[in-house]
Parts: sequence; structure tokens; C-alpha cells
Amino acid sequence: MSEHEISIPTSSAPPDEQLRTAYRIVRTPSSGELQGLILSNEIYGTWTHFFNGRTRPHTEPCCEACDAGQNQRWQGYLAVLLTRARDLVLFEFTAPASAPLVEYQEHNRGLRGAVMRAYRNSPRPNARVTIRLERGDIDMYSPPPAPNIAEILSRIWSIDRLIAHEAARAAGNGQARTANPQIPDTGPKPKRGRK
Ligand SMILES: [Zn+2]
Repeated sequence: MSEHEISIPTSSAPPDEQLRTAYRIVRTPSSGELQGLILSNEIYGTWTHFFNGRTRPHTEPCCEACDAGQNQRWQGYLAVLLTRARDLVLFEFTAPASAPLVEYQEHNRGLRGAVMRAYRNSPRPNARVTIRLERGDIDMYSPPPAPNIAEILSRIWSIDRLIAHEAARAAGNGQARTANPQIPDTGPKPKRGRK
């Protein structure tokens, strides 16, 4: 009967892929302040659109949101270990708020180990954000390594699907005609699966 013995697989942490999806994107709260230890060494910045009810990155050379006339907006990200919750999150900030981060990054050869406080200057929605930085005591204990922000965002934003979508649009516009030299550029086009 031993060949049919049933066992229960266990592990002390979920698989890496599923663990990464657990990271949250956190913005500066409307009241109170966000405090944490910066784990990333440099800012990860992208141009984004708010399109079809959600944030998506701007893509090149083809971008559906740009084609629809939507504005691009720069957004920066840093991996931060929140002090109170001991929660590792992606801190998201806008260009106007980022000056102290950029300055610190340039003058201290990176941001890792800095202690950050972010708060809004008034209770109005979207009030101006102030970020203050202090050098942290990173030697006191060993903080976790910074997670790969590109990888986390790529999951949150379903980048694979987005890129496939933009590639299909580009092909549909005839812009990607030379992308696949195996398909001769003569005769009727093969029928596509969907209209
Ligand atoms: Zn765009």
C-alpha cells in the first residue's frame, strides 16, 4: 500500500511568483504620514496614463492611450519597508514630490538605507506631498534586499498582455509589417482569429 501513500506538501513561504504579487502600491496618505526605510537604491520612474479606468504605462513606439489623446504623467516608485506595519510596499510618488529623493540619490550615491517620511500639507484630496529624508541606521539590523520593482509592476500592470495588445495594434496599423520577414508582403493577408 506504500505506493499510494498520500502526503501533504508544505513550505515556509509561498512560491516566489505568488509572493511578489502580494506587494502593494502605497501613496502618501491624506492624513498622517507614511514612514519607512527605503530599500531601493534608485528611483524607478515611468510615464503612465490613466486609461480605461486604470493606470497603465506609456509604451513606445505605439501607445493606445496616447492615440486616444490621454496625457502622460511621470510616476516614481521605490521599495520601502514601512516602519509601523513592517510591510514591504512600493511607494508611488509624482514628479513634484520627488525633488528631495533625487537630491538625496545624487548626493549619497543612492537611496538605500534612508529613512523617509511622506505627508500631505493639507487635508484636501491630492494636496501637495512633502518628503523628508534622513540617513538611517542601516547597520543596526540587516534590512531585506530590495525587490525588483520592474518585475512587480509588470505583474500589477499585466505587462505581457499590454505588450501583446500594443504589438497587435501595431501590426493592424501596418507599422509592424516588416517585423516578421517570414511572411511575404504579397497576396491576401491571412484571416485573423478575431475582428
Ligand atoms: Zn502613451
